[in-house]
Order: sequence, then structure tokens, then C-alpha cells
Amino acid sequence: MVQEDIFKKIIAHCKEYGFIFQSSELYDGLSAVYDYGQNGVELKNNIKEYWWKAMTQMNEEVVGIDSAIFMHPTIWKASGHVDAFNDPLIDNKDSKKRYRADVLVEDYLEKINDKIKKEVEKAAKRFGDSFDEQQYRTTNPRVMEYAQKIESVRTEFFGALEANDLEKVRQIIIDLEIACPVSGSRNWTEVRQFNLMFDTKLGSVAEGANTIYLRPETAQGIFVNYLNVQKTGRMKIPFGIAQIGKAFRNEIVARQFIFRMREFEQMEMQYFVKPGEELKWFESWKDKRIKWHMAMGINPAKYRWHAHDKLAHYANAAFDIEFEFPFGFKELEGIHSRTDFDLTQHQNFSGKKIQYFDNESGESYVPYVVETSVGLDRTFLSILSACYNEEQVGEETRVVLNIPAPLAPVKVAVLPLVKKDGLPELAREILNELKFDMNCMYEEKDSIGKRYRRQDAIGTPFCITVDHQSAEDRTVTIRYRDTMEQERIPVEKVAGIVREKVDLKNLLKKLV
Ligand code: ATP
Repeated sequence: MVQEDIFKKIIAHCKEYGFIFQSSELYDGLSAVYDYGQNGVELKNNIKEYWWKAMTQMNEEVVGIDSAIFMHPTIWKASGHVDAFNDPLIDNKDSKKRYRADVLVEDYLEKINDKIKKEVEKAAKRFGDSFDEQQYRTTNPRVMEYAQKIESVRTEFFGALEANDLEKVRQIIIDLEIACPVSGSRNWTEVRQFNLMFDTKLGSVAEGANTIYLRPETAQGIFVNYLNVQKTGRMKIPFGIAQIGKAFRNEIVARQFIFRMREFEQMEMQYFVKPGEELKWFESWKDKRIKWHMAMGINPAKYRWHAHDKLAHYANAAFDIEFEFPFGFKELEGIHSRTDFDLTQHQNFSGKKIQYFDNESGESYVPYVVETSVGLDRTFLSILSACYNEEQVGEETRVVLNIPAPLAPVKVAVLPLVKKDGLPELAREILNELKFDMNCMYEEKDSIGKRYRRQDAIGTPFCITVDHQSAEDRTVTIRYRDTMEQERIPVEKVAGIVREKVDLKNLLKKLV
């Protein structure tokens, strides 16, 4: 199936089965804002728990906080967000559509990259087993020409952006003959910088209200609490502070469902280290974070590393983990070595000393920071897009979400075959034991086949069916979502089998 169609299906599935709804749908919706429904919130909470435990429980030296969304406005001056958290935007005069200039160019380069991929695929078919992709990429003239083009456009374009030369940015778009995907025309406005932070007022106008911002990232709440946590927790470097929370960005190009939202959630961790040791810790966190993703059991080929072409002036290393969403490989998580930039800025702007005294060496220093920053919503989308499957079963197509059992919204559904003969009572007895440990569902409506399909569609890993034999000998059938196999087991064994499989420990153990 074409990837675009799969994406449409996933979006429709999310709505139909209570995972994600458009925000304010009743009032025709609010663009790039979404609500999580009854199943979505369970999956989202489970991802959070997995991340939180992986960070704070599995690393003795990492602790969590939950800082406020509203912060002193000077924080955003210090962090650089007031002056530099901008996207370059450009409008097409005919369609009146607005674009991010860098996204237009990235899409253009992606098309050239697709051409390279096609050439490589063709050659791989032609040469068979003897094909050496690396050699082909570095010797085939056409492929080399494409690669060179990508490289030169990138250097020129990002150089112009870096220098804030917006006239040149526009000229490059025109020279590349990039057309508006809607109108098809090349009738572009000037390029302007647009700050992505939402602002609002604190206090009433009469009191002289102050402009404050909705935080565009959770990280600054960690930096400004560095001293609090270090002192009260008597933390010794290296140590980390983790946080999960909402962030807000007035994204210009808000598309691709929950991939790019205006209100979203981040899971961030800042690791404070001794200056000079940051690259060692950077490597170690790269390793830990990719393991965290891989432990979910999603096809490893769906992940890849992307090294930043241009480092921010304060960073000395930066990699993204990209995921192959139905619309291509895109950023899922960023891992950055940010030097002492943020803490030094806060030291300068607040006028307070932010330093660490090293007992062993007797020196004081501003710690360096390695950051891991992953989007919760993007992780949600990565799981859904990898786990959404359509399978042919006899005459029918079954839609199944093969979500890792510990993350599944509903862990077990208990289904009495009929609504009489004592079967509902026995089913309730089983449910009543399980519900202390996990999210369960009880369903007695419709044929058993239909009920299985509904559970497959929300990714429930186990269905327990109570039938007439159950009433006689206290055995039930357990049906496994992925294989559809059914097995008869004693009622007393149900809790043990299910508990073992849905335990988050199964994922956490893969991290050590
Ligand atoms: P992009 O280049 O896609 O805009 P970014 O580089 O600005 O992302 P960061 O500032 O590094 O993103 O934020 C860290 C993580 O937060 C990202 O890797 C992503 O998973 C998530 N994220 C950022 N912006 C959004 C958004 N608008 N909607 C959903 N998730 C987001």
C-alpha cells in the first residue's frame, strides 16, 4: 500500500478507536492542536511511564522535576528564544499559502535524495549479490552529481540562514525554481523571521500586566532549577534532571497530524557533567537513547542517526534520532552537547552564581550539559505507524495494532461468550482480580469474532473468553493478539500469564 494511504488510514483509525481527536472538533477544529481520547491517553501515559522509569529509576544519578509552564520572561531572553527562536517564512502570492523557507528547500533536497535512492535500488537489482552500495555511491557519476548538488545547496542555504541574509534565502528558492505545491507558481513574497513563542499577559491590565511566554521547551525549567536540585538532592556531578511536560510553539507549517503540533509534550533530560567530559557522556547518552527506542521491538531499520550539518554556536555535538514515519524519515529525538551555554547565560542574566564545587579537585566550574529531548507525541506516532497492520484472515481483513504489550492501552479484555448461565459472573470474577494491576475491559455485546476484532483494533494483547465449559471446569481460553492463537488454561493461571507479559520490566530489562 502507498505510504500516503497508510498515513490517512492511521489518522482515521486514531479517530474511530478513541486514540486522537481534532481539538474543538465540535466548532470545526483548531489547527495543529489535538485531544487524546480514551485509548490514546492510556498509550500516552504508558509511554511516559516507560520513559520516566528508564530515566529516573534505571539511572541512580537522574532525578525528575515538574516545573511550571509560566516562567520569568527574562529566562527566554537568557536562553536566546526571544531574539532567535524564529522560523523564516515565505508566502506564495497566488495561493496565499505560508511556508517555512527551510522546509521548502529540505523538501526539494529530499526529492533529489529520492532520485539517488532509485538509482541505488535499480543498481542493486542489476548487480545482485555482488552489489557494493558504498562503492556505487562514491563512483557512479549521476549519483555523485546529485549528492554534490544536495551538499552545495545545503551549504549555501544554511549559510544564508545562519547569516540571517533573508534576501539570499529568497533568491536561492527562486534560483532552485521551487514552486508552491498548491498554486504551482513561483510568485514568492519576501522572507521574514517569525518568532514561534506564544505570549500572554500575567496579572490584570490595571496592575500593569507583564508579557510572559508559554514555554517552547521544557529544558529551561530544568536549567533554572539546577541549583535547587543539586543542593537539596546533594547531587554529585555527573547527574541528570528529567522532566515531562507541555511545550508550545506557534508552528507556521502545521501539518502531518501529531508530528508537528502547536501544543505538544516533551520528555527531556539534562545531564550535568565536568567540562571536557561532555563528549564521552554524549556518546553514552546516544547509546542509551537508541536502546530505549529499540527495546520496544520496532523494526530497527525504521530508525537512523542524523548528524546536524550546522551546529548551533553553543553546541559541540548534535545528533538526531530519525524515524521512518509514513511521510519519510523525520526527527524523533535530539541529543545535544550544549556546553555551558545555558547555565552561563542564566548566571549572567540573573546575576547569581551557578557553579559546582568539586570536592575532589577543589575547583569550581559551570557544568557542561548533554541533553536528550524526545517528543512524546512523535513517539506515540512512531509506535502507531510501526504497529498498525492490516492482515488478510480468510475472507476478511483484520486491522491490528501490534503495540508492545506493556504499552498497550488495554492489557486484557474479558469476554463472556453469552450473557447468561453464570458466564458474566465468572468473567467479572477474573476481571476483579486483574483490575488492581492493569487496565482491563469487560465486553459482552456482539459476536465473539466482532469483539476480538475490536480488541485487535485497539491493540489489546490478550482476550480471555469465558464459555460454558468454563462454568463447568473453571478453564477459559486465552487468545493472543499477534498470532490469534487460542489456548485453554485454568482460571487461576490467567493473572500470572498476563501479568508477566504486560510488565514494563520486560522493556526496562533490555536497557541494562
Ligand atoms: P523540528 O526540526 O521538527 O521542528 P526541533 O529541532 O525544533 O524539531 P527540538 O527543539 O529539538 O525540535 O525539540 C525536541 C523534540 O520535541 C523534537 O525532537 C520533537 O520530537 C519534539 N517536537 C518539537 N517540536 C514539535 C512539535 N511542533 N510538535 C510535536 N513535537 C515536537
